[in-house]
Amino acid sequence: MTAAVATVCGLLGLAVGSFLNVVIYRVPRKESVVRPRSRCPGCGTQLAERDNIPIVSWVLLRGHCRTCGEPISARYPLVELTTAALFVAAALRFGLDWVLPAYLVFFAALVAITFIDLELYIIPNRVLYPAVFISIPLLVLAAAAQSEWGNLERAVIGAVAAWVFFLILHLVSPRGMGFGDVRLSFLLGLFLGWLDLRHVFLGVFFGFLLGSIVGVALMILRRRGRKDHIPFGPFLAVGAIVAVLAGSPVLGWYAPS
Ligand SMILES: [Zn+2]
Repeated sequence: MTAAVATVCGLLGLAVGSFLNVVIYRVPRKESVVRPRSRCPGCGTQLAERDNIPIVSWVLLRGHCRTCGEPISARYPLVELTTAALFVAAALRFGLDWVLPAYLVFFAALVAITFIDLELYIIPNRVLYPAVFISIPLLVLAAAAQSEWGNLERAVIGAVAAWVFFLILHLVSPRGMGFGDVRLSFLLGLFLGWLDLRHVFLGVFFGFLLGSIVGVALMILRRRGRKDHIPFGPFLAVGAIVAVLAGSPVLGWYAPS
């Protein structure tokens, strides 16, 4: 049964990943994510159905536009593969639970936010707000269906606690912690809090740990000076994903019950 759910989620992840590529490209450019259909950024030719199949088309075309031969970024198949892998991981983590759809939305939002923040150093509200407004009803539905009101309560507490914590960091160091990160922390706190409040702490801790390691590594490699900006959103996103998928075993080692 779990294998079937994982397979369905994997295929859904490929399709959602394909949509996220559109979001990642168009949202920062203030374009509609619904229409027109996808075009080659090089020559503007609309993509035919056969050239719009996740991963397969990119591989068959060897990463080049069929019409103009312009290279197509490897980001496209990477986003599709990442989303599919995260959806499978969520299916294996939650199985046929009412909360699964909410976590799929969460992971999809984190993929879009990560790639946009890496490229442009922004966390767009046009991704974050829809993610929050879709997630809350899905979590309420899961709580109602499974009488998990305690989880919902912890989700709200986690979201508010994370938001307040990051707001304080932002006020102390506005350049180090952007307000986009403060907004993102609300979404993270919501989903980590649903699991329990220790997961909120763990997710944020993983994010800071990863950010510090990469930051120090970049300084040693002299790729960036100490004052240069490194987007923090991707580290928070990865930290939260690790906490969702692996937090319970980690907490189990730390405090065996
Ligand atoms: Zn082209």
